[in-house]
Amino acid sequence: MELIDIKSLDYTQLEEYIVSLGDKKFRAGQIYQWLHQKLVTDFDEMSNISKDLREKLKQQCRLVSLVPERVQVSKIDGTTKYLFKLYDGNLIESVLMRYHHGNSVCISSQVGCRMGCRFCASTLDGMVRPLTASEMLDQIYTIQRLTGERVDNVVVMGSGEPFDNFDNLLIFMKLLNSEKGLNISARNLTVSTCGLVPKIREMADLKPQITLAISLHAPNDALRKTMMPIANKYSIAEIMDACRYYIAQTGRRITFEYSLVKGVNDSQDCANQLIALVRNMKCHINLIPVNPIKERDYEQSEHKAIQDFKNRLEKNGIRVTIRREMGRDIDGACGQLRKSYMEDK
Ligand code: SAH
Repeated sequence: MELIDIKSLDYTQLEEYIVSLGDKKFRAGQIYQWLHQKLVTDFDEMSNISKDLREKLKQQCRLVSLVPERVQVSKIDGTTKYLFKLYDGNLIESVLMRYHHGNSVCISSQVGCRMGCRFCASTLDGMVRPLTASEMLDQIYTIQRLTGERVDNVVVMGSGEPFDNFDNLLIFMKLLNSEKGLNISARNLTVSTCGLVPKIREMADLKPQITLAISLHAPNDALRKTMMPIANKYSIAEIMDACRYYIAQTGRRITFEYSLVKGVNDSQDCANQLIALVRNMKCHINLIPVNPIKERDYEQSEHKAIQDFKNRLEKNGIRVTIRREMGRDIDGACGQLRKSYMEDK
């Protein structure tokens, strides 16, 4: 018998399940609270649930609960990187960043990734499997449990392509949002995609109030194709159209991520092309000094090139920030910790 992934059930589904076991509806409310507010890791912690029902749940359900395999704390800024083990032995990474405006957790959406971006460590060994909604949630739950600190913001910017795991992402968003759970509002959630155009449109139609971030990284298709294989499938023009549609549907500002690579995409000419692309668009540009990985020859742009790039955008009235490098001393970039850990073993 296949186990039920009880933490991926929404409130209504949990009610239906508990009723199907011959129990009262309100029990589902209690169980939901144990799972999504009290963040228990064992059915036996559910002290107001009968032993009989707990036994049934143990037999029929998987209670997803991540095991910290390695925890690294940055000496520079306190950023904490977690390597979690899943029930099947797979490993994923999550990061806790402490900002003055609150705690942000960056979560993974897949084990590995199949998008193949040239600068990214997550994709070097391909995609192993998508994460369930419960495994996405439990990265946040476990960090909250381990630190005793409230998580305020969530960014889906760890390993994996969230729009390549769309259905589970939507369940995850619903559970994260739920008043009976952690109640983290859509406005405090950012989802980053390499630009799967049909999914951007599908998301737009759901009119979520999340922040959508698009990994653009290049201002023209020819250059983008050298950095991101997905550029062979969707053109920048198609992405921009989908983004305009997203803005029209949701009223939200879009973030474009642009990782600066020395001598590749950091020229003033690139800046000018980027300006032409996003002019008059309700957007924000996030410049990321590329975090070099040893498997690839990309180098980080010079400090001056980064500043010049930013200045040029700003002079043209474009909202732009340079992403602060957090946890540089702890394998900060996506997928690096998992990769280095697996190489050690
Ligand atoms: N698959 C999603 C989300 C994961 S990556 C996406 O592509 O958006 C989160 C962001 O970090 C993306 O913009 C990604 O392109 C960028 N990124 C990944 N590895 C990086 C590296 N080594 N240096 C700088 N940015 C990187």
